[in-house]
Amino acid sequence: MTPTVFLPSQRLLRNAICRLSVLVVLGWTGSSFATPNGARIFDLHVHLWHDEALLQAYEENLKKTGREVAAAGVMWFGGPNQALAKQPESIEAGNDGIIALAARHPTLVPIATVHPYDGEAAIAELERVAQKGVKVLKIHAHTQRFDAADPRVLALVQRAGELGVVVLMDNASIVPGDCEKLFNLALNAPRTRFVFAHLGGMNFRFWNILRAARTAEGLFAENIFFDVSAIVALVADSPFKDEFVWTMRSVGIDRLLFGSDYPQYSVDQNLKALDQLGLEDEEKTKILYENARGLLGLP
Ligand SMILES: [Zn+2]
Repeated sequence: MTPTVFLPSQRLLRNAICRLSVLVVLGWTGSSFATPNGARIFDLHVHLWHDEALLQAYEENLKKTGREVAAAGVMWFGGPNQALAKQPESIEAGNDGIIALAARHPTLVPIATVHPYDGEAAIAELERVAQKGVKVLKIHAHTQRFDAADPRVLALVQRAGELGVVVLMDNASIVPGDCEKLFNLALNAPRTRFVFAHLGGMNFRFWNILRAARTAEGLFAENIFFDVSAIVALVADSPFKDEFVWTMRSVGIDRLLFGSDYPQYSVDQNLKALDQLGLEDEEKTKILYENARGLLGLP
């Protein structure tokens, strides 16, 4: 059989059709992409509280601002829903809710959570949701009130690594020593892939340490990714914008993922901010979708 060769125009058409079918599933149609070469967008960071109404509000916000996303990572956790320790039943219900929501909307990637201090129960819940196909676990030292340097956190993230679950952790530098603790956690769990949300917040400079870590033989397993949700909106009009872009390239453009942090920030706000940073189109394409595709096995 002759292998099928797609001419560039055919490939574009095929991609357009794929994209259209994705959007039809979600009912997101009509608006145009304002991203390089019609790049697809994956929004890693959406707080939906497993609520159809909030999903609808998210979709309406996209429509209103003329934006489209191909897929989104959604969590039940945030706002009024906090996953505190010693509440395993409500955590289980929250996880089941977001898994069910994603099952009804196939382009949503469900993000589960557990509390590390629940120990064995937390690990059992992680195993249960991984069995159901969950690929991302979100934990948040500030709102869940845990210490990222606690051995129970290490045990949990190591198990996540064994299960192939990516660990998304808040890294807005709200808690003291946030970046330092997360860096050491990642060094101690080299088989776990992490996404640190907000790239260190206003302490983003810390992460230039990765340039040095890469020169220390056998130290760093390249298991750290970052989402740039919200932080891009904070730095885009700042006097240290260039430093932030330099940091993005230091940690590696291949390591960065787009996110909105909806409802606190919108896709539109984050895209506008990203546009203001003066990145190359190829860099934006990677951040908007390609890196997430590699990390999470998206189509
Ligand atoms: Zn968030």
